[in-house]
Amino acid sequence: MSIAERAAREQRLANAAALVDRCRKCEIGEIRQNAVYGEGDACAALLVVGEGPGETEDREGRPFIGRAGQLLERMLAAIGLARDDVFIANTVKCRPTFDDGVRLRNRAPTPDEMANCRPYLDEQIEIIAPRAILCLGAPAAKSFLGPKFSISKQRGQWFDGPAGIPIIATFHPAYILRLTGGEIEATKRLVWADLKAVRARLDAPPLDGASTGSVALQASLFED
Ligand code: URA
Repeated sequence: MSIAERAAREQRLANAAALVDRCRKCEIGEIRQNAVYGEGDACAALLVVGEGPGETEDREGRPFIGRAGQLLERMLAAIGLARDDVFIANTVKCRPTFDDGVRLRNRAPTPDEMANCRPYLDEQIEIIAPRAILCLGAPAAKSFLGPKFSISKQRGQWFDGPAGIPIIATFHPAYILRLTGGEIEATKRLVWADLKAVRARLDAPPLDGASTGSVALQASLFED
């Protein structure tokens, strides 16, 4: 990747982020504290897509920086990736909330919110042109693969994503954090298998023949 190409991608992402900052297509655009455009390497081989920003992300304007983000960083580290090596985005760029009478609480994005935000995610994919997309959780996976996608049955499998980019889904780190007892280890084993599939895909020679190198896997980084 030339320095000029990297700079051009970074500029395009910055321009797009500025547009998202001004976006008010949805009501949550009026309520949010900050838009969370996404962040990371403009030339990343891996694009990670979550559902939507939570309270911490909304406050700071950055994706995956709460507890789920810390677990995501450990998941990535286990396959030799630092947070800065990948690009992290969400299906929606504003925090979806509802008012429970006391405070704003997180909720899942509506189909309309996801549709309104889709052009921003599509543009990120076009600019970054990742070698693979990792979806965290069913909503992100369904947004690419359709409503029939089953996270429990189809996680860990590769599908053709946008522009033919391979796409795979695993459980959302926030889901893993909510598990109790033996479910934790069982689910982590499944997630570890999915992460290894991502690593193998990134290590496979790209079509342009450039070297990708390869890294040691470290399951211990992801275990408690
Ligand atoms: N969960 C998500 O899906 N995205 C974030 O950015 C944070 C938590």
